[in-house]
This record gives sequence, C-alpha cells and structure tokens, in this order.
Amino acid sequence: MTDQQIAKDVSLKHISSIAEKFGIDPQEIEMYGKYKAKLPLKAIDRTKAEKSNLILVSAISPTPAGEGKTTMSIGLSEGLNRLGKKTTVVLREPSLGPVFGIKGGATGGGYSQVLPMEDINLHFTGDFAAIEKAHNLLAAIIDNNIQSKTNSLLLDPRTIGWKRVMDMNDRSLRHVIVGLGGTSSGVPRETGFDITAASEIMAILCLAKNLTDLKERLGNIFVGYTYDKKPIYAKDLKAEGAMAALLKDAIKPNLVQTIEGNPAIIHGGPFANIAQGTNSVIATLMGMTHSNYTVTEAGFGFDLGAEKFFDIKCQSAGLKPKAVVLTATIRALKYHGGADLKSLTEPNVEALKKGLPNLEKHLENIAKFGMVPVIAINRFVSDTDEEIQVVKELAYSKGIRIAVAEVWAKGGAGALELAQHIIDVVESQKSNFKPLYDWEMGVQEKIATIATEIYGAEYVDYTAKAKADLRKITDLGLDALPVCIAKTQKSLSDNPNLLGRPKDFIITVREIEIAVGAGFLIPITGDIMRMPGLPAHPSSEGIDISDDGEITGLF
Ligand code: ADP
Ligand code: MG
Repeated sequence: MTDQQIAKDVSLKHISSIAEKFGIDPQEIEMYGKYKAKLPLKAIDRTKAEKSNLILVSAISPTPAGEGKTTMSIGLSEGLNRLGKKTTVVLREPSLGPVFGIKGGATGGGYSQVLPMEDINLHFTGDFAAIEKAHNLLAAIIDNNIQSKTNSLLLDPRTIGWKRVMDMNDRSLRHVIVGLGGTSSGVPRETGFDITAASEIMAILCLAKNLTDLKERLGNIFVGYTYDKKPIYAKDLKAEGAMAALLKDAIKPNLVQTIEGNPAIIHGGPFANIAQGTNSVIATLMGMTHSNYTVTEAGFGFDLGAEKFFDIKCQSAGLKPKAVVLTATIRALKYHGGADLKSLTEPNVEALKKGLPNLEKHLENIAKFGMVPVIAINRFVSDTDEEIQVVKELAYSKGIRIAVAEVWAKGGAGALELAQHIIDVVESQKSNFKPLYDWEMGVQEKIATIATEIYGAEYVDYTAKAKADLRKITDLGLDALPVCIAKTQKSLSDNPNLLGRPKDFIITVREIEIAVGAGFLIPITGDIMRMPGLPAHPSSEGIDISDDGEITGLF
C-alpha cells in the first residue's frame, strides 16, 4: 500500500476534537476547513513549557531518499502516547521543492503519518506563500527605492544581497538580471532567487518569540550599502510593518493529527543544508506547553540540522532538550560503506560494516553537546536480521541504547521499545545539554569549531569573497552572531562524494551571507546552492488529479 492509500483509509477526526485532546478550547482555534487549524499564540505558557521533555530526532548522513526522521518522530510520539505519556510531535512544513523533486513530501510514511497529507504537502495553510510575499515585498521596495527620484536612499545596487524567493526547485532563477526595459522599468542589476525555505524571513519566523520580536527582526534585515558606504536595513525602507502584516497568520502554528489521532503541530523551516532548518520556536513552545513529551526533528543529518538546533535555536530560545534519537537505516549505512544506490535492498554485511564509521561519528558529535543518544534503526522490509545484529553489536560495545523501530510498518506499536528507552533516558536525567561554542567567539573560530569538531575537517579555507565578507561582518559589528553553515547534506564534509566518515579534508567557505534579522551569519561552503534544481525525472511526473478532485502520486 502506498502512503497515500494508507492515509485515505484513516477516518479523520474533526480538528476541534484534536484541539480538545491537545488541551485548547476549540472556540480558540482558527479552523482551515475540518482538519487543519491555526493555534493562538496566547496558548503558549513558558512556565508550563519548561516542564515538558523535549526530544530531538535526527539521523546519520542520509541517502537522497531520506532516512526517516519525520516518520520516526511521528511513530515515536505515537509510541510515547501509547505508553501513557502525553506527547505531541512538532514538525517542519514541507517545501514544494522536494515534493516535486526527488524526495517527496514531509508528512512521514507508512503507518506513521500526519494527516491530511495532500493538504500539508501542497500549500497547507499558506504559510510559505506569506513568507514568500513578505520576502518579495522587501525586494520590490528595494528596487523601487533605487528607481525613485524623490525617496532615494542612494543605495548602491551592486551591494544588495537581498534576493527574491520562490518555493520551487528552479535552478534557472539562481542568477537573474532585473530592471531591464528602459528608464521606466527599474535600474538593471544582477540578483537571483533562493528557495523560500532559505529565506531569512523563514528563519525570522522560526526564531521569533512573538509579533513584536518578529517585526523588530524584520526591521533588522541587512539590505546593502549606500554609495557613501552607509549600511541600510529594512527599517530604513520602512518595510517591517507591512512585512509583519503579511505574516499575521503565518506566525501561528498549525494543528493537524497523526494516523492514530494524536495532535501534531507543523510550522516553519525545512532544509538544514541551506537554512536553519528547524520548526518554529513558537510551535515547539506550543507543543511543550500542552504535553509531557515533545518530539521534534532536525536533519538532514545530525551534523547540519542538530548542530543548528542546539547552537542556534536552543540557545536563542533557552530550550533544554532531554534526549536525542539518532535515526539510522541499514540502507544508508551500506551506502556509506560503498554500496551502489541501486543495490541497497540487497543484503551486504560487508558494506554495512564499512559504513558504520558514519554512525560512530554522529554518536561522538551527540556527546559533544552533553546529550545521551538512543539509536533507532528505521526498519525497512529489505533489512536482514544479520545486518541489524551488526549495528546492535556496535551499540552494545559502546554502551549506547538501541531499538529497532518498525514505525513505518506498525505505527506507534512499532515504537514501544524506542519510546521506553527515551522515557528511561529522560527519567534518569543523564543528558546535560551544552552548546558546542560560545556566540562571543570570533566568526572564524566559530566556523572552525564546527568544521573540525562536528564535520571532522582539518581546517577551513576562505575564498577572497569570503574574506571580504568577514571584513564586512566586522565593520557592521556582527561578529557575535552564531553561524548557520550551508553545506551539502550528503557528506560530513562539503564534498557530496565523500561518504562514510571522511578524513583529512578541508572545508571551503565560498561566501558569507548576513542575516541580522534572523540573528546569524550564513557561511556557504563547497558548491551548495540555496536554490536547488529538479532531477531529470522529477516526481511531479507521477502526480495527478482526477475529475472528482482526488490527488494521486504524492509520497
Ligand atoms: P526524513 O524526514 O529523514 O527526510 P522521511 O521520514 O520523510 O525522512 O522518510 C523519507 C521517505 O522514506 C518517505 O517517503 C517515507 O515514507 C519513506 N520511509 C521511511 N521509513 C521507511 C521504512 N521503514 N520503510 C519504507 N519506507 C520508509
Ligand atoms: Mg523530514
């Protein structure tokens, strides 16, 4: 059965009853049809939230198909609910890029899904559209200011880093020239598009505490320089009020349900390779306010999403997570051990053993944050018992808890062992979260700490452009911002071809973008692009809608 068929067989509960189960009066929610709702910000209570146990689900370095963090997060929360712990899963919103690209949606899979999957994967409650509009409003205001004779700040068009965004994998938009067509159609300048998830507005929305904080952060967006080198921010263009107005609903977290009828919150932020990549602080605190356990995810692998989750999100919001689930699949381990992508369903203990160092490195990294990991093997039908035993032996030899989770095949019933491990870790209070670096350190020192400690690099190299960016950062007084490194998710290094646990490699920082509103710097490494492209055969080829409005081909 496909994910979509499984989803269709579930009789969904009305969202008002899910709200009630979650602990919010149905009168207080804003319904988007029968199965989706926006939750009011006033339902967040920081004191209550601090009593909740925040669990992070991350993963080893994935194959292009994804290793099942979302599926695992949903299954684990169903499992915790089955064991009598009131649990809410708090996830990121899907981007249309992967929905139509290779990976597909982001609503889990098999018997661990959030529903309604068609709606969540396509448009949902319009948050991405609002973020895109707010972002592009600022772009329009900038170009209009350059054009204006009476209101000009004398912005130097060549210094403007603010691009436009669109939620689509569309590589042709990476570099564009706007303002062609003569004096009435703007001033020509080179710019480009990023995917919406990489927008600074997405990061701002994900890190903002409330509307006031959101507006202040929007005002702090760095735009560029005037001809006499004065920095210009969005507030100098009086843009932040209108941008915040566009985000009035997008800032509210979305309530949906899991297959087993438990509440799930989905709000903000995919893509930790090119963005901060975790769901919103508001959504996390909303989940924590109303539940005993709150399960959230960060990826692609622990090196990207989890590092940012801990060093940026947890630090800026004062969150103290209690445990980490490291999702591993036999197929990804074989891939890291040199097996061909096409042969991953065939048993191959030898490749599996060769791939284990990738898992070991992520385990070492988890310990660097003071956290206690639990390994969750996301079981696929093709996994053999012998292969699973190999991974178990590794965990036993290191004294690390491990569970085989059959969340995809069995939902919450397949996650009971994992859920029990998590309860044990939380109740024994073994984790003692500490960030990897101090924000006050120098920018290069922060980048070097992540590159050497987490990625395992020898050292960090900077291009001439990146060095110029470093000087700009110092001139603007932004050295104390944390760093949100853009890096390929395919490798621990910045070279997608180096699988397993690469050694003796150098990280190259190509340029450093400034995101003052979000509150971080974005060193861009290797060849990573903040606007992805589609594959030769995008999954959009398999998506269709029937005469009676039934969508097929989503996964
Ligand atoms: P991630 O969040 O790590 O990117 P997902 O949870 O979205 O990964 O899973 C990626 C894809 O793999 C989804 O289409 C999901 O349905 C599928 N999947 C996950 N776990 C399994 C499994 N155990 N067996 C088969 N397919 C799975
Ligand atoms: Mg996911």
